Amino acid sequence: MMIRETQEKNEMDHLAPGACCSVSSKGRLRPGKVCSIRTVFQHDRDRILHSKAFRRLKYKTQVFLSPEGDHYRTRMTHTLEVAQVARTVARALQLNEDLTEAIALAHDLGHTPFGHVGERVLNELVSGGFHHVKQSLRVVDVLENDGAGLNLTFEVRDGIIHHSKGQVGALSAPAARRSQTLEGQIVRLADIIAYVSHDLDDALRGGIIHNDDVPAAIVAVVGERHSVRIDRMVTDLIRQSLPGSGLVQLSGEMDQAMCALRSWLFEHVYQAPCVQAEFDKAAALLRQLFGHFIANRDVFLACGGHQYPGDSLAVSVTDFLAGMTDRFALSLYRRLFLPKPWGVF
Ligand code: MG
Repeated sequence: MMIRETQEKNEMDHLAPGACCSVSSKGRLRPGKVCSIRTVFQHDRDRILHSKAFRRLKYKTQVFLSPEGDHYRTRMTHTLEVAQVARTVARALQLNEDLTEAIALAHDLGHTPFGHVGERVLNELVSGGFHHVKQSLRVVDVLENDGAGLNLTFEVRDGIIHHSKGQVGALSAPAARRSQTLEGQIVRLADIIAYVSHDLDDALRGGIIHNDDVPAAIVAVVGERHSVRIDRMVTDLIRQSLPGSGLVQLSGEMDQAMCALRSWLFEHVYQAPCVQAEFDKAAALLRQLFGHFIANRDVFLACGGHQYPGDSLAVSVTDFLAGMTDRFALSLYRRLFLPKPWGVF
């Protein structure tokens, strides 16, 4: 028996009913090489981890633009925190940890530079709109590997496309918008557990808010410290779901408190004047780059952009801008629009 087959058998013997076993995967976009060691979901996780889009997450904003301080989250550390929370939950519920990890590592690959402001600007500029969820799928299906994509399994792709929560309403997704696997449903909730916790932590670190500012009703449920908050949210999710129940859900009380915290963060952190002022500059920068590339295809190509057969220039420029790190966008802007001091070569 090959090592992979032993692992596949272990999954079938030990995972809870309702878990997504590797052998029952609906398969890849195209038939591909089968690994003798790794299950299909372990293989997907490794393809994601070794992708260029994953490495670029390191220099993409979470909330604070190109943070100077070394302790602020970036899109990559956010992704790793989501993966950690999601794996803890998947293991506790005896679900497929490898599938959960693969979805978590890939979920934000399509995120723009400059956080949600990048997404908002591209959404305004592109006909048909822009959303990082769809872009994450486009990265793994098409853009990685010079246009060949990563050829991932249906279940990982399904988890990516169903991870978004929107900004309003209860956290548990309505059935029609839910991932087909329980593992995908875990990542969706792990994402919000991670970001409400670490965005609050970073905002405190940055002095944008103070501990006393957080409404007492929220603190009473989620707790006063970062580690306590993560622990309470994760424990609530595990206790409300239970192995073999076929459910992935938070208690009503925790769901409500996290919704309230998210709304509070929008008002007091994401839309705080000091954060917003930098976002406005980033938005102007992206608009200018977009317009310049649309008007000058040769410059777009010379700067590293690529137009795949069948794609309009607008789609290709969107792919290029969405893939940029904050620092790449800033340095490109400087190169294209700001004069170089005389004598500097
Ligand atoms: Mg995320």
